[in-house]
Amino acid sequence: MQISEKQIELVNSRIQALEKAGSFYGKKLKEAGITEIHSAEDFEKLPFSEKSDLRDAYPLGLMTAPEEEIVRIHSSSGTTGTPVIIPYTAKDVDDWAVMFKRCYETAGITNMDRIQITPGYGLWTAGIGFQNGAEKLGAMVIPMGPGNTDKQLQMMQDMKSTVLCSTSSYALLLAEEIEKRGIKDKIHLKKGVIGSERWSDKMRERIHNELGIELFDIYGLTEIYGPGIGINCPGETAMHYWDDFIYLEIIDPVTGKNLPDGEIGEIVITTLVKEGAPLIRYRTHDLSRIVPGKCKCGRCYPRIDIIMGRTDDMMKIKGVNVFPSQIEEIIGSFDEISSEYQIRISHLDGKDTMRIYVEASGDHNWADLSRRIAEKVKGRIGFTPIVKIVEIGVLPRSMKKTARVIDERYD
Ligand code: ZN
Repeated sequence: MQISEKQIELVNSRIQALEKAGSFYGKKLKEAGITEIHSAEDFEKLPFSEKSDLRDAYPLGLMTAPEEEIVRIHSSSGTTGTPVIIPYTAKDVDDWAVMFKRCYETAGITNMDRIQITPGYGLWTAGIGFQNGAEKLGAMVIPMGPGNTDKQLQMMQDMKSTVLCSTSSYALLLAEEIEKRGIKDKIHLKKGVIGSERWSDKMRERIHNELGIELFDIYGLTEIYGPGIGINCPGETAMHYWDDFIYLEIIDPVTGKNLPDGEIGEIVITTLVKEGAPLIRYRTHDLSRIVPGKCKCGRCYPRIDIIMGRTDDMMKIKGVNVFPSQIEEIIGSFDEISSEYQIRISHLDGKDTMRIYVEASGDHNWADLSRRIAEKVKGRIGFTPIVKIVEIGVLPRSMKKTARVIDERYD
């Protein structure tokens, strides 16, 4: 997906704004002697920006518009130390809502829908992003925020919510509660808009079956507005993204070179019109690919595949590169086990060991099942894990992104 003339023009205006503001990226460009670009080749020579650059700019080093124009900040979770602060102008906030409205429309959601929002509000971009887009659409928002499952289910019934916005794990938890309480006939949900964590087909199938709703994956990250920069259309898994607001590249995460459309690599995003904190060639560390060709729905917006994992999820075990998505695919191929799993990697007696925990009901022969799973994993990644089976419901379900891989080697 080569950068267009129009997009190059927009990138140039961002380059000028960054240099004028003297932010970290503006300085990088100045050092490289770049004031504007003229072609796709020029663009691909621009330096990347990384999360660590953004952290170094804490607190307000990313601010690129004059202070009087900044109306809000958001922050990405600082699990690894200093958080990242992203300033927004009024136009940025509005642009984001325009994109989010487009996401809802792509999913077939209208101003007659009642949208129950369960992601958190506050410094992070989730709840408020879902809300602004829904208000722009003219739908009725039920701004619950996370947790309090009793209240969630009560409001869902009383307000007759038709759309659920949530993480996949929380959607699953709600689905299980609805089933357990036998209140499915009192639920009016038709669609679920699920935040951009990677989730398995099996989990998708379970939520779809138990809630009877159509599910949509919404993509986004705090550094680039927040959720709402892309979504899949009905019946398709690939996500359209809004190329009038962002330019998206796929690169080889090791060499940094651009990959041809269709090949899997790291998503790199450039904001085309952002004012508060424009980013050029921002490395997301999310893995996906451009889906070539035109979508059946007729929309002209380009598409990326569902997020396939993180470049830094890659684990080196016994010298072999392993992606959790490979294990997940294998788990998904066994009907006897649930979609929940946990991988624990430890170092015992001088060697790496991988234990995989999965859930099955007592009706199955666990010894035989674990042997078959272990064999299939060996066939795929080259070494035999220890597979432990536990009762359904034993593995943790979390409202936040569930940590399914625990590496105990460096504790
Ligand atoms: Zn489409």
